[in-house]
Parts: sequence; structure tokens; C-alpha cells
Amino acid sequence: MAKFIEGKVVEQHRWNERLLSLSVEADPIAFEAGQFTKLALPVEGEMLARAYSFVNTPHERPYEFYYNIVPEGALTLRLARLQPGDAVWLAPAAAGFLVLSEVPDARNLWMLATGTGIAPFLSILKSETAWTRYSRIVLVEAVRQAQELAYRDTIEQFKRERAGRFTSVQFVSREQAPGALCGRVPQAILDGRLEAAAGVELSAASSQVLLCGNPGMVTDSVHALAQRGMKKHRRRSPGHITVENYW
Ligand SMILES: Cc1cc2nc3c(=O)[nH]c(=O)nc-3n(C[C@H](O)[C@H](O)[C@H](O)COP(=O)(O)OP(=O)(O)OC[C@H]3O[C@@H](n4cnc5c(N)ncnc54)[C@H](O)[C@@H]3O)c2cc1C
Repeated sequence: MAKFIEGKVVEQHRWNERLLSLSVEADPIAFEAGQFTKLALPVEGEMLARAYSFVNTPHERPYEFYYNIVPEGALTLRLARLQPGDAVWLAPAAAGFLVLSEVPDARNLWMLATGTGIAPFLSILKSETAWTRYSRIVLVEAVRQAQELAYRDTIEQFKRERAGRFTSVQFVSREQAPGALCGRVPQAILDGRLEAAAGVELSAASSQVLLCGNPGMVTDSVHALAQRGMKKHRRRSPGHITVENYW
């Protein structure tokens, strides 16, 4: 199998100066909602590749990726310069375990993300499987400033279409934002504010939790959830927490 296939940029949507969504047409890549592939660009004769989660569902085209420009980052500055019609390369095989086929059944499904970590959750939420297996689903997004809360229309649509079953909670850490909680997710797990804001039970008996994004948030949330008797899920030792660290 070729290491990369060539795709063509369809759209580069700018949410703000740092956050973008890249839409790409390319040959079929088989994946499950929640998985990622690699995007690559040739740099000095070599392919520079990084992992990105699919925002689209396995049945939707074009492929969509949600990313932030990392200052001094090797690839994201180059990705952000791409225009419609430009070439970008993709790994032809997807990977990743942040997928519902690896997550046990429960009454409640919690998805906790920082920043662009909502990407795999959008794909999962757009797929039917989540709604057939979990009664209540909570999407938690943590950002620094309110203008980093992207995909509002998509999230509002989930609220309308899944009324009574879907709750979205936002955390904004560096400013006061109407409707959003302040502070950090792990602390809000510990002090009960997250559960109260969602109005959904967060416990080992009732919930599965998916975590994605900043490794600090992921690690601290795993520790906070351990206080509620929850542990990482492994195939051989079932638990309640499935994680993906972006770096
Ligand atoms: C499984 C997986 C899936 C991923 N999916 C996505 C995705 O859907 N969207 C996305 O934006 N990123 C995603 N990432 C991160 C992505 O692969 C790159 O690391 C990121 O885009 C930075 O690439 P870069 O070459 O510009 O910077 P690099 O030169 O690779 O990184 C420089 C430094 O920036 C920090 N860093 C890396 N990623 C971020 C980030 N997102 N925010 C802040 N600091 C960061 C790290 O400390 C890193 O050492 C994913 C990573 C993994 C492992």
C-alpha cells in the first residue's frame, strides 16, 4: 500500500486567525467515527506528516479536519497556507481506539474535549451508533476564549434533533462568557460542577467517558474520575474511560 495518497483541497474554512477546518477530496479511506488519519505535505524532499481526526462520518465526503495553528509548529503553518485546488497528502489507512466499537455500553456517554479535540466527537455524534447505544450524551468543550468555540451550528443541530438526550457544556478559562462555565474540567469533575451543569449522572455505574485533546486535561481528568471509582477501559480489563492525547 502506498504510504500517502494525493488529495485535493476543497475548502479551507477559517473560524478565526488560529482555528481552521480543511476539507479534502481523495480516494476512499475506510475508518470508524472517532479515528484519525495523517495529513502530509512535502518539505525539503520528505513527507512531513501529522495525525488528524476525521470530523466527517465514514459516509460523508469530502474529508474534514479541524485544526489549530501551533505557533512554531512544523506542519500547521503550512496547512494553513493551502488554498482550494492545492494538493495535500493523506495516509490511506485510518487508526485509533477512540471509537465506540471499543467502548462498553452504559446509560450515559460523556465526551470531554479541549479545543480541536472535539473533532472525533463530532464524527461520533453525527453517526447513528452513539444514539442507539446511549440514552444521554454530554459533549464538554474546554477553550481559552469564547471565540474558540467553533461548530456552533452543528452543535445546535444536535440539540434540536436529539432534544432531551443531548447536552453540551462549555468551559472558557480566560474570560467570562455567557452560558459557559469558567475554570478547568478536572476541577469541575472533582467539585461536582460539571455533573450539576449537565444534569446527567457521572458515575462508574452509569457512564462511559471519552477524553480527547490536551494531555494535561486528559491526565488530570483521569485522576479526577478515579475519585468516582472510574478507571481506564482496556479490552482485558473493562473500565469507564477511553482517551486520546493530541500531543
Ligand atoms: C491521534 C492524534 C490525533 C490528532 N488529531 C488532531 C486534530 O484533529 N486536530 C488538531 O488540531 N490536532 C490533532 N492532533 C495533533 C497534530 O497531530 C499535530 O501535533 C498538531 O497539529 C501540531 O502539528 P505541527 O507540525 O504544526 O506542530 P509540531 O511541530 O508537531 O508540534 C510542536 C509542539 O506543539 C504542541 N502541540 C501539538 N499539537 C498541539 C495542539 N493541537 N494545540 C497546541 N499545541 C500543540 C506540542 O507540544 C508539540 O510538541 C492529533 C494528534 C494525535 C496524536
